Amino acid sequence: MLQNEIQKHMNDTKEILTKKGIIKNVFDYQGLDTELINIYQHFEKKFQELCQSYADAFHLDNCVFYISNNNSCNAFAAKIENHNIIAITNGYPVLIKDKFDDKFFSNSLFIAFINEKSISEAYCDLHEDQYFKFSEFVLNCSVKYTFSHEFRHILQFNSFDIFKDFLYAENLDKNSFDMKKHAWEFDADRMASFEVIKYTFRIYRNLKNRDNEKLKCMFYIALASIVITKNLFYFGVIDQITQDYTINKQDFYTKRFSHPHPLVRIHNMVEHSYNNIKHDFPELEIDFQQLLNNVLGISRLYFNNLIPGQNAMQNYFEDASRFADDINEYNGELYDFAIKDKSIKRLLKKRGIKL
Ligand SMILES: [Zn+2]
Repeated sequence: MLQNEIQKHMNDTKEILTKKGIIKNVFDYQGLDTELINIYQHFEKKFQELCQSYADAFHLDNCVFYISNNNSCNAFAAKIENHNIIAITNGYPVLIKDKFDDKFFSNSLFIAFINEKSISEAYCDLHEDQYFKFSEFVLNCSVKYTFSHEFRHILQFNSFDIFKDFLYAENLDKNSFDMKKHAWEFDADRMASFEVIKYTFRIYRNLKNRDNEKLKCMFYIALASIVITKNLFYFGVIDQITQDYTINKQDFYTKRFSHPHPLVRIHNMVEHSYNNIKHDFPELEIDFQQLLNNVLGISRLYFNNLIPGQNAMQNYFEDASRFADDINEYNGELYDFAIKDKSIKRLLKKRGIKL
């Protein structure tokens, strides 16, 4: 389907489902400022295209995307009366675009200094490449991550033949804990981070000048995008619209609430991505410590710009080291649970993918 056909098809489906009462609270952005309309159109188009291309690739019918009326930053996946629904709130485009503004990445090139000569030169080459824009790439990776995570929930809902409605939202529900839900989040994060790796390689292939070092740098930046996205939630600043952010860190936990703790999730995705890169790109000779130093280094430079003077990443470093054993252990437990889960097991088998 052509781009405008996809949009028309999605918008028609959205309208029908709204009339049927399956989709509620659709956000109407017509009538807002031109700047806002542009932002909403941009994100809606992006998500609609992703939704259609994934639906085609996984042979799933009845997929629809919409923006729901809610000012906080959230995304969700639902299966209602056999319709596969992915949504973001109207807070999401504005808050995410704001957080990934160019100005917060102004000194991201400093990351080059912590590396050996060949890598630092690759960062500089990337910086000078007119076909590569750092902040835009980080934003696209973040969107790709969020979308793929939600789409994995759709696949999980569809992987067994129970005709039941589901809804998984991404904001933290503090009233519920369910090991199965945590395992589904763990699995969705793994697919999403893998999709970001694949996306990164596609962008890399379109560059004019390519070499292994550059690809390595791009993987570091892509993973930093996921880590930054998760940390925005971890530090409690994602929904804040003021420029004077107040850090309100999420205390560490394991078997509590609707989603695993951001530190657990970040560790899972960094480790999974490292294993995937090592397996799929052996020529890069990727080193775990180097990857971690770069990913966290980019994240630190970003947060020092976003929240000046508060050393936000110190929270991360302290808790990640204090709870290192618990994080490892819990991820191991989630892995064991996930590979025994019926829905995940069927998905993995169908695609021949290792979790
Ligand atoms: Zn989720």
